[in-house]
Amino acid sequence: MAEKLNNYENTNRLFDKAADVIELDADIRKILKTPFREVKVELPVRMDDGHIEVFLGYRVQHNGARGPMKGGLRFHPEVDFDEVRSLASLMTWKTALVNVPFGGAKGGITCDPWQMSQRELEVLTRRFTSRMGLAWGLHRDIPAPDVNTNAQVMAWIMDQYSQRYGYTPGIVTGKPLGLGGSPGREAATGKGVSIATREAARDFDIDLKGARVAIQGFGNVGSYTGKFLHEMGAQIVAVSDASGGLFAGDGLPVTELFDHTYEHRTIEGFGQGEALSNEELITLDCDILIPAALGGVITQENANDVRAKMVVEAANSPITTIGDAILNDRGVIVVPDIFANAGGVTVSYFEWVQNIQAMTWEEDDVNQQLERIMVKAYRDVTDVMKQQSVPMRTAAFTIAIQRVADTEKMRGGF
Ligand code: GLU
Repeated sequence: MAEKLNNYENTNRLFDKAADVIELDADIRKILKTPFREVKVELPVRMDDGHIEVFLGYRVQHNGARGPMKGGLRFHPEVDFDEVRSLASLMTWKTALVNVPFGGAKGGITCDPWQMSQRELEVLTRRFTSRMGLAWGLHRDIPAPDVNTNAQVMAWIMDQYSQRYGYTPGIVTGKPLGLGGSPGREAATGKGVSIATREAARDFDIDLKGARVAIQGFGNVGSYTGKFLHEMGAQIVAVSDASGGLFAGDGLPVTELFDHTYEHRTIEGFGQGEALSNEELITLDCDILIPAALGGVITQENANDVRAKMVVEAANSPITTIGDAILNDRGVIVVPDIFANAGGVTVSYFEWVQNIQAMTWEEDDVNQQLERIMVKAYRDVTDVMKQQSVPMRTAAFTIAIQRVADTEKMRGGF
């Protein structure tokens, strides 16, 4: 049990568990577990103090059987091939599960954006685009925001790519509205998480009205999730980010907290609620726990102390495989990442469609389509969950794997 697996092995373990349920043959398994293409680039940047720093950038294109490969870019000191590979694979299953016509990819740059100026970040992003752009394309691979990247970073990518290849807004999603971004994209992941939470809560007899929710991570995904769940009647009793956490037994004032965080990019300085640590938040007495930051926060060490009835994975891979097994054994419901946070890539798909058609949808239409896709995916997952008596994660993976395997076989070429 204590065996230490790397991120990609962890993800492949989840894959194998589901592949066993559908008795996937060994040949297709090999294809689906091996990434299609992996690129690493050197990124020299003259820093503001005059010296040159050399950063490394990665892109893993995991599988493109069902469409152009799709997935975000993260800027973080821990980015490496192993992490990106694992996240790229999750994108393949996520896009297949919600049935948008994309494959999976992920990328990132090993850097600490909090220590960099806007100019340094812009030069770094443009360098990355120039060197990585060869592997991208409107019908090949389309990046998007992820941890520590935002609409401004996507705008730089769009501009740099378009300088070489001509005006191509659809090369990246999550852009600012004035540059071909989609209404509703910024809020989409959080909106999707709130829909996933609502659906699962209803099925597992948790009344969302008055339910006590703790959210770890209050960036784009966590803050929008909190806002929407609050609108649905839940009480957000705790939130945290890299600066620490805040707790209020009768619910934090979420609207004010959202506005504060939107402006300052941190919950620090909010001035209301009691302090609590990220670790305390994970084991807080609450109904629903929503990890919405980085991977690997619920582990062998703390999974036994989780007191929530349900954990909704707004982040990618927030629970290690052993942590997951412990939660399952304890009967804690886990709403898996490839379903729970799929709202982001779903609206990225709408953005790409709008860009290709040079049209703009109304925000209401975006949200209605998002609702439809999330609810359909939830029904698909829970049907398999009941038929096969497997956890929700395994059910989600079986649906996704079957879809990709079928397409891979139809396309052939091996
Ligand atoms: N980074 C997000 C994710 O993990 C969004 C990806 C996208 O929109 O392509 O799903």
